[in-house]
Amino acid sequence: MRQPVLRIDLAKIGENAGLAAEMLAQSQVRLTAVTKAVLGSPEVGRAMLEGGAGALADSRLENLFKLRMAGLNRHPWTGHAVPLYLLRLPMISQARAVVETADGSLNSEIDTIRALGEAARAAGRTHRIILMVDLGDLREGVWADQALETALAADTVPGIELEGLGTNFACFGGVVPTPENLSRLAGLAEETGRRLGRKVTVVSGGNSSSLGLVLAGRLPEGITDLRIGEGILLGCETINRDPIPGAHLDAFVISAEVIEVRDKPSVPPGPVGQDAFGGRPEFRDRGIRRRAVLALGRQDAVPQGLQPLLAGIEVLGASSDHLVLDVTECPEPIRVGGVMEFLPRYGCLLAAATSPFVEKVYV
Ligand SMILES: *Cc1c(COP(=O)(O)O)cnc(C)c1O
Repeated sequence: MRQPVLRIDLAKIGENAGLAAEMLAQSQVRLTAVTKAVLGSPEVGRAMLEGGAGALADSRLENLFKLRMAGLNRHPWTGHAVPLYLLRLPMISQARAVVETADGSLNSEIDTIRALGEAARAAGRTHRIILMVDLGDLREGVWADQALETALAADTVPGIELEGLGTNFACFGGVVPTPENLSRLAGLAEETGRRLGRKVTVVSGGNSSSLGLVLAGRLPEGITDLRIGEGILLGCETINRDPIPGAHLDAFVISAEVIEVRDKPSVPPGPVGQDAFGGRPEFRDRGIRRRAVLALGRQDAVPQGLQPLLAGIEVLGASSDHLVLDVTECPEPIRVGGVMEFLPRYGCLLAAATSPFVEKVYV
């Protein structure tokens, strides 16, 4: 098999989605499953829907297009409509493609919403909007004191259906979801509903960082949707990366081939300058160590995000094309031509899934 490989276990992803969907269903919360870490893989999207997701979302139009072309705007078993949402705020220049590819999108700018409305009308459709409210993470969203006014304005735009309010956490500012800030979102949605004279159906309370609240039974009333990627794919919440009880943590495995195994000093002899990426590496003198070099670089993965499956392996670092490991303490023999396996963390999964050099193998 061509190496390196990203092995994707669809049964495990389906079971993780099922676990998340069931957990959320107990609080009447819809699971919107996020495919962006796997390049909008239709296989993964299908496993998520079969597990119980009620909607799919991705940050890229190209990925949503793949999902739609694979027919995943319908549930594979029931044929029910599955809404596809664009997660990243739309570009005005892409308004037409957005309304043709996505059923709805997350938004914060009224000019963009007007452009989407115009495009939707031209295409004879209605585009759904979830207005993003910034509760402190300082990435996208209107500040809470402008939420009501912006929501009411969005609702008057022809071609647009204001479907709900949403927020995001733990992405840029690292602000964590709490019962307090999520109640604030639910309160804003309720107030908006009162002013519109109808219920605001989607109140989207964040990403996998909100799963800890769900597990603790502390998700406040009024939240009706969560957008979950990592929690399904890697089986953990994302505030402390605590595993979700019962979830598979190994749905993805990266493997790469060993291309050198040699004993070398642990400190470079002679003066040390910048490495390939402008950093200045630091070394601890541990004498002569056994090192393995693998054909896996930063074009394929993120070295800090690789967790070796064998014990006694230390990831020392990587350049564009080479991963360097200390295998001195590994009880298994490491040989040239052999293959080593790793569990990827989130950033590493994203890199491997989007790298054209990494072979994707579904099991
Ligand atoms: C990526 C993303 C998500 C999903 O995040 P996870 O941490 O993978 O659950 C949810 N919402 C938005 C806006 C995103 O960009």
